[in-house]
Amino acid sequence: MEQTNTRRNFLKYLGASSLVLGTVGHGSQTQEEESSPKKPHYGMIFDQNKCVGCTECEVACRTTNAVPKTQARLYVQNKTNPATPMEKRYTRVSCQQCVDAPCVNVCPTNACYKDEKTGIVTMNTKDCIACKYCIVACPYDVRFINHETKSAENCNFCFNTNFAKNEEPACVQACKYKALVFGDLNDEASYINQLLHVKDAVRMKPSFGTQPSLRYIPIVKTGV
Ligand code: SF4
Ligand code: SF4
Ligand code: SF4
Repeated sequence: MEQTNTRRNFLKYLGASSLVLGTVGHGSQTQEEESSPKKPHYGMIFDQNKCVGCTECEVACRTTNAVPKTQARLYVQNKTNPATPMEKRYTRVSCQQCVDAPCVNVCPTNACYKDEKTGIVTMNTKDCIACKYCIVACPYDVRFINHETKSAENCNFCFNTNFAKNEEPACVQACKYKALVFGDLNDEASYINQLLHVKDAVRMKPSFGTQPSLRYIPIVKTGV
């Protein structure tokens, strides 16, 4: 079935076989990032070493957030190199929860906004006029107009659903392989931070200058 919000441009940013796009290294914060100790900075890790491509996260997201079947807030993409088919490689494609979010900056109605308390980029569907400015402005090409609500949306860490109930995002809950970790990057004691202290992680295209809050742990090859 054709996906009506596409992954087309996101793919351009990914090399055929590599996820390494901008090194974060150990630790989760850089000086450029929003770092108010009083406010949270929610982020997510996708661990490419653990993902098996089952897509249960996609299904859980649709169900939890009432996303139409032909659309998605997140995709798991098969990036396996055809030359080495046994070395499976998947990646998550979704909103990067930019600290400096162009989608928010261009929205004429504030339907696309950053929540004051949590810093999460989310949307108020009733104010959206479907002008698509935000879709054009997003350099990661991960926004879309929901065909049913006729308003723009993005992965907002389940802001109106699970997050509102103090639960982890649906994708994180659904992942049996623990490939997804969600948490507060401004909380030194959080598991996400502890993980980032010991694992090398990268951000998707940091050269865009939007300060994405998603981190990717690329495949680490073992053996010879
Ligand atoms: S990835 Fe796109 S939709 Fe998400 S915050 Fe950044 S600009 Fe907005
Ligand atoms: S499509 Fe909706 S959310 Fe996006 S810029 Fe226009 S009014 Fe704002
Ligand atoms: S549920 Fe987990 S293992 Fe399955 S595709 Fe999603 S991230 Fe990968």
